[in-house]
Amino acid sequence: MTNPLLDFSGLPRFATVRPEHIEPAADGLVAAGRATIERLAALDETPTWESFVEPLDDANERLARMWAQASHLNAVVNSPAMRDAYNAALPKVTQYFSEQGQDQRLHAGFRALRATQGFDAWPRARRRHVDNELRDFRLGGAELPPPEKAQFLAIQEELAKLGAKFSENVLDATNAFGLYVTEASELSGVPEDVMEAAAQAAKAEGREGWKLTLHMPCYQPVMQYADDRGLRERMYAANVTRASALSAQGRPEWNNDANIVRILDLRAQAARLLGYSTYADLSLATKMASSPAQALEFLDDLATRARPFAQRDMEEVRAFARGQLGMDEVHAWDVSYASEKLRQQRYAFSEQEVKRYFTEDEVIAGMFRVVKAIYGLDVRPAQAELYRDDVRFFEITDGEGGLVGRFYMDLYARDNKRGGAWMDDAINRRRLGHRRVQTPVAFLTCNFSAPVAGNPALFTHREVATLFHEFGHGLHQLLTQVDELGVSGINGVEWDAVELPSQFMENFCWEWDVVAPMTRHVETGGRMPRGLFDKLLAAKNFQSGMGFVRQLEFALFDMRLHALAGSQAPEGVLALLDEVRAKVAVFDVPAYNRFPNQFSHIFAGGYAAGYYSYKWAEVLSSDAFGAFEEAGVLNPEVGARFRREILASGGSRPALESFVAFRGRKPRIDALLRHNGMMATA
Ligand code: ZN
Repeated sequence: MTNPLLDFSGLPRFATVRPEHIEPAADGLVAAGRATIERLAALDETPTWESFVEPLDDANERLARMWAQASHLNAVVNSPAMRDAYNAALPKVTQYFSEQGQDQRLHAGFRALRATQGFDAWPRARRRHVDNELRDFRLGGAELPPPEKAQFLAIQEELAKLGAKFSENVLDATNAFGLYVTEASELSGVPEDVMEAAAQAAKAEGREGWKLTLHMPCYQPVMQYADDRGLRERMYAANVTRASALSAQGRPEWNNDANIVRILDLRAQAARLLGYSTYADLSLATKMASSPAQALEFLDDLATRARPFAQRDMEEVRAFARGQLGMDEVHAWDVSYASEKLRQQRYAFSEQEVKRYFTEDEVIAGMFRVVKAIYGLDVRPAQAELYRDDVRFFEITDGEGGLVGRFYMDLYARDNKRGGAWMDDAINRRRLGHRRVQTPVAFLTCNFSAPVAGNPALFTHREVATLFHEFGHGLHQLLTQVDELGVSGINGVEWDAVELPSQFMENFCWEWDVVAPMTRHVETGGRMPRGLFDKLLAAKNFQSGMGFVRQLEFALFDMRLHALAGSQAPEGVLALLDEVRAKVAVFDVPAYNRFPNQFSHIFAGGYAAGYYSYKWAEVLSSDAFGAFEEAGVLNPEVGARFRREILASGGSRPALESFVAFRGRKPRIDALLRHNGMMATA
């Protein structure tokens, strides 16, 4: 065998994989997959799990495993050759998987399986997988009669184009803006590094002075730190009118008004074709929330509870701005500025000081101790082929030394590595025949500062929490006990429940008993003082009420907009947002604010009638952690139950069932409010 990407006997062969291996491997596996599908389509006898699902899983799994390696390498050790190879194979792989979703013969096969006598007695994971497949065929339009199906597919295609156009307009409008400043005094308060970048930007255009832009690394610090109120107002106005008719420098073709109307209309049409009354109902068909009414009730409830705290936060900002900054009124463009000044006065601590306590090895050891304490599992370095020397590889074993799962940990930022932090599956757990189980493997990737000058790498507290978060996703993937590929690990988990295990792990970073032992000052070797940790904790909850209602405003607007049956005029969209704001917001925005025209999450991203899921998942993870707080945060009995009911069961049953099995009741919002310092006074 010459192509290491086609070696499925064990771990990825990273030492020998080269970009030129990618396209031939993809071609070969796609061809083999298509041949398998042809063979399955020609089956004479009634399909069974063994004759139908297993061969299909085999073929798709090989391609997915190969592709996971290619995607990972493309993301973390990118090069022109790697990018070319990846981009050459990408459309072929995408095409292969999307044509399966439209394959009538596969659809018929799954329908026949579902109708098999005794199906109801099948193992839960198998039933769940077949039901998910049938649901996805249905939502992909496979059950529609030919004319409606053609219409449905045309709608999907137009929606994809409109979504792309929507975000292009936002991007173009963002890029087109520049505010040129020639007097340094006008930029008083703006941090040095932001000034430096702004000077570079002006120079690149052959201009004197500084160029301010609407890109976040410039816009955000200007709004937070610029002392010049008029400057902040101009920046704010430019930002909130992007891609609208009111945009000062935008072109009419960048106006997203018509795109919003058309997108909403097409989504409503698609939903009706599939038999749903609104797009919100369609969106929730694959999510844990059962109906738009339930999601709205959830959001309204949170809003009612959070709003008094948000009002208190805003009152504090107003009082501070009046007393300390001489502002009689706090406008939308003053909120960040005044809040930042208040935060500094109240919770000043040095990020640099905190960092000196979080040294890499101590943090990782502390994180593994949590897993040992609550799940009784050991995590140790292990051997594997690596694509870089500074990537680490670990194995997780149970009390008897049995292998549970393995993972790569690639922590440092560098050139040619995609930004952000994420977990990806490399190999999924699956039972192969009666005796053998394929143990899962995951990639954990972060972008932290690499070690310098012989010192260990140092992390901010935010970075420690990020590491715990991704490790939480990893444990969901690695501690699964499900035997079937389609629903093992995070496969088949509802979209709004996927963040439960990750956000759950973050909670441990706010526990003194967990944090204290994993700190060691890089020079003195001493533990972090309790006082410094308490400052971190207090700063965490600063303005949490305001942060809450802002998220709730977006989520309520999104859900209510998509729960409307008829089509909307742009004025109607704005009126709805005003209505939501009147209920939850704690400060006014000017009438020219055109936030919907930039809301790419729901008009161009995957969050349509799904924005609520941010808060939804936080409720689940906080409430789950609440069970640990009640019994002691490192309690092994609660840990065993969490592992069994949530992590091990993966996508093999509805997430709500898993939650109730763990918690003994449905989720409640109290723990989330408590964790954010929003306790109702009795
Ligand atoms: Zn996550």
